[in-house]
Amino acid sequence: MSFQAPKGTFDWLPPRSERILAVREALAAPLRGAGYGYIETPVFEDTQLFARGVGESTDIVSKEMYTFPDKAGRSLTLRPEGTASVVRAVLQHNLHAGQLPVKMWYSGSQFRYERAQKGRYRHFWQVGAEALGSEDPALDAELILLGARGFASLGLENVTLLLNSLGDKACRPAYRAALQEFLRGLDLDADTRARVEINPLRVLDDKRPEVQAQLTGAPLVVDHLCAACEAYHEEVRSLLAASGVAFDDDPRLVRGLDYYTRTTFEFVHGGLGSQSAVGGGGRYDGLSEMLDGPPLPGVGWALGVDRTFLAMEAEGLLDDHARSRVQVYGVPLGEEARRRMFLIVNELRAAGVSADMAFGGKGLKGAMKGADRSGAGFALILGERDLAAEAVQVKNLTDAEQTEVPLAKVVDVLKGKVQ
Ligand code: ATP
Ligand code: MG
Repeated sequence: MSFQAPKGTFDWLPPRSERILAVREALAAPLRGAGYGYIETPVFEDTQLFARGVGESTDIVSKEMYTFPDKAGRSLTLRPEGTASVVRAVLQHNLHAGQLPVKMWYSGSQFRYERAQKGRYRHFWQVGAEALGSEDPALDAELILLGARGFASLGLENVTLLLNSLGDKACRPAYRAALQEFLRGLDLDADTRARVEINPLRVLDDKRPEVQAQLTGAPLVVDHLCAACEAYHEEVRSLLAASGVAFDDDPRLVRGLDYYTRTTFEFVHGGLGSQSAVGGGGRYDGLSEMLDGPPLPGVGWALGVDRTFLAMEAEGLLDDHARSRVQVYGVPLGEEARRRMFLIVNELRAAGVSADMAFGGKGLKGAMKGADRSGAGFALILGERDLAAEAVQVKNLTDAEQTEVPLAKVVDVLKGKVQ
């Protein structure tokens, strides 16, 4: 058997691959418009960065990382998420010594060894944003708005914003203890009981119905927020409301990563079944210190590009016929015509008209089939008689009308027609 892409991965092929690039661009566009700068970090990092920055007790670190030794014996890990890398880069390059907040966005591949299923892959794409160095509810609200705007710009209507606060180091310990006490009284398997001791908030995120059924009476973090966290959260809520962004308070919303504090949110889509989260994020005020940095509060999100694409499919937003590959398609008949067409196509491209031509010495029928498949609006048919007359047949592929144009003028004529 020939090679297959590894389990949990797939290839993006044309024309869908063009659409996914457009989705990525659309999710990033609102960030550019709000002063976020593009950052590109390595696809692999020191394993310890994620062990500390994401947290040993998370699913990501405990079972989902692609970790390998390099030839010098260093332990490296393919990045499973972007935040730890961005904070590492900001600290390494001392960006936090300048204007605060440092606003960054990124876009790229992430890797997690997960149970592969629809919407859950081992290699997937995220667009992410981070704002570091300010503890300001307006920054939390700004990021949420920018995420919502990205989804809306794609035409998505079925995205819901879930919002919660996780408290901070003043109020979370007491809540954590109360939650632990509640969870210890439940009927849970050994792994989950262990999680109760290490990271009890994560148990609230357990997707299994038998666990969810027992969580009905669990204490809620909203009832344990200190005055400062409560005021902060109220301000985020009122800024969102004033901006006209709809949100649902979800007192059970927690995030998979250890470093979140206060504001936490998720964008979910109604048409995706159990892989419903199209994005999520929140505030992570302790992360910098966990990476040996100074106190540097932060807030950010990551949107799942693959799931956003699935959400668009679910809303029928990808149904319009495939976009055309090129505007003009050359159909040369014979050796000399091929040479001449090669030059014309090159000139067209230089003039800003996208163009392709039939390769491989195809006859008229085969070449015209290529023209149709390319989605071009015009075919240029060049035969021996045309060459002798220094002319070319320009065929409008929409209405089949054909006109003869002097070769010396064809680039200008087509420029006029396609614009
Ligand atoms: P989930 O609860 O679905 O596992 P998560 O909490 O692990 O999501 P984050 O780490 O917050 O997700 O990542 C942000 C977004 O990235 C998610 O909302 C989702 O859209 C996307 N995402 C996460 N894991 C995957 C994956 N394995 N395949 C495809 N997209 C993913
Ligand atoms: Mg996950």
